Amino acid sequence: GSGTKLIDVSGLQAWYGDSHVLHGVNLNVSKGELVTILGRNGAGKTTTLRSLIGLMSKKRGSIKIRGEEAIGYSPTAIARLGLAYCPEERGIYKSLSVEENLYLPPKLRDGGFSAEEIFDLFPNIRERLASRGTNLSGGEQQMLAIARILRTGAEVLLLDEPTEGLAPVIVKQIERAIALLKQRGFTIVLVEQNHRFAQRVADRHYVMESGVVVDEFDSERIKRDWDQVT
Ligand code: ATP
Repeated sequence: GSGTKLIDVSGLQAWYGDSHVLHGVNLNVSKGELVTILGRNGAGKTTTLRSLIGLMSKKRGSIKIRGEEAIGYSPTAIARLGLAYCPEERGIYKSLSVEENLYLPPKLRDGGFSAEEIFDLFPNIRERLASRGTNLSGGEQQMLAIARILRTGAEVLLLDEPTEGLAPVIVKQIERAIALLKQRGFTIVLVEQNHRFAQRVADRHYVMESGVVVDEFDSERIKRDWDQVT
């Protein structure tokens, strides 16, 4: 029905071996929303994204995607539902050229970006087509990593600290791209440490601490009550 969330996580627990790191995460994301997950190092933000994408083998609770229970789904099954993950370490083939990186991702669904659409979003990429991944700046690697998941036809983007370590001018370019993707109707879940960036781009925020969500608010409140989150 109309009340069905695109992503609805409840009571999510997850383990690395015997190490219990998520203790009952609750969060939801509507279609077209841009939601951030904020919180300190080790709070469980990355593990939450990894759980959503089917990369945590040991977990419990519920992960509904468009109302469908997906907690036990493989990464491939999750990808077919339109979710894609861009890890903090970026996930590109560094020994291959930019062009090869763009042509390798399998098209899993309809609506994958054409090369021209990628260049419109990230003009730098066109100029760097022949460069190897290793020769790209951190910002260019991040843009290529996002471009790769757009090629697959994903419509729900899970981005893990896309601005980490990047110069302000590059952060602005990534911000422009994320804003354009949101305009196009993409749903985006963004793990961020950069609260100013998060506040500029997002509709809503979750704060995680010690493996649970401890707070939730919209971008209006982040502007009003700045020091609660910094
Ligand atoms: P960060 O920004 O540091 O990635 P985070 O909020 O994303 O922080 P997670 O990476 O999800 O946090 O880590 C949650 C907990 O799980 C931490 O205590 C971390 O040490 C632990 N952890 C993360 N990866 C592993 C792993 N591969 N094996 C064992 N423990 C892990």
